[in-house]
Amino acid sequence: MPELPEVEVTRRSFADRIAGAVVGDLRLGKPLRWPLGVAPTRLAGQRVHSVRRRGKYLLLDLDEGLLLLHLGMSGSLNFAPQQPPAGPHDHMDLVTDRGTLRLHDPRRFGAVVWAASEDAPSALKLLGHLGVEPLSDGFDADRFHAALRQRSAPIKQVLLAGDIVVGVGNIYASEALFLAGIRPTTRAGKISMPRARRLHQAIIDVLSRAVVQGGSSLRDFVSAEGKTGYFQLEAAVYGRADQPCRACDTPIRSIVQGQRSTFFCPTCQKP
Ligand SMILES: [Zn+2]
Repeated sequence: MPELPEVEVTRRSFADRIAGAVVGDLRLGKPLRWPLGVAPTRLAGQRVHSVRRRGKYLLLDLDEGLLLLHLGMSGSLNFAPQQPPAGPHDHMDLVTDRGTLRLHDPRRFGAVVWAASEDAPSALKLLGHLGVEPLSDGFDADRFHAALRQRSAPIKQVLLAGDIVVGVGNIYASEALFLAGIRPTTRAGKISMPRARRLHQAIIDVLSRAVVQGGSSLRDFVSAEGKTGYFQLEAAVYGRADQPCRACDTPIRSIVQGQRSTFFCPTCQKP
């Protein structure tokens, strides 16, 4: 599943190239997760001003309103001057005078939604509950700790919920908790200020590093330039059950939390 770093890498791969382009046509294939919310013809002639990211959504600012794109479980975006004919898993072509942005999404959990503004109900439904951006100045260690104090759930699940800090998905939550030395099962509300500060910094470090390295290469992910990332190859704990911890040689343990696999070192990560 594309996580925040992959979405950010995708954004950077075409944001500059599409900024200023004029939409000629929006062609949709099979239904995605939600309806578009506007007649596609209404987008023709509109300029794409910028591509922003909020959580795992990409926001394409148009003359009138914005397009919200989500990659779902298996989606990828590719922006190219010429695209081959659309295949069975290509469900959106945003045709512009600079090229076509194509959404390829075999499992069709992705989304293409138009909203009149970020405050419109259709946008708020998707963006309104999102926590602070981890790679922004708004992600503050003291506020992060204060928010964790209010939660009794295990820290890993609190991170995955995304309403305190957004975009820390399964891989990156496991990795950040390892860097911070915190057991994923630890109750969020029990985490001390110094440990919360370490986790805050670990989240920033692990996500920043993944963005720099091009996003992790989960099976279906290909950035808009067609390159796969390789963060997963360097993971400290994620996907390394029974392999020796890179820090202390203790075998990495794997458990299931909230139906998601969690990996941790029982020696380096304290409850
Ligand atoms: Zn260890």
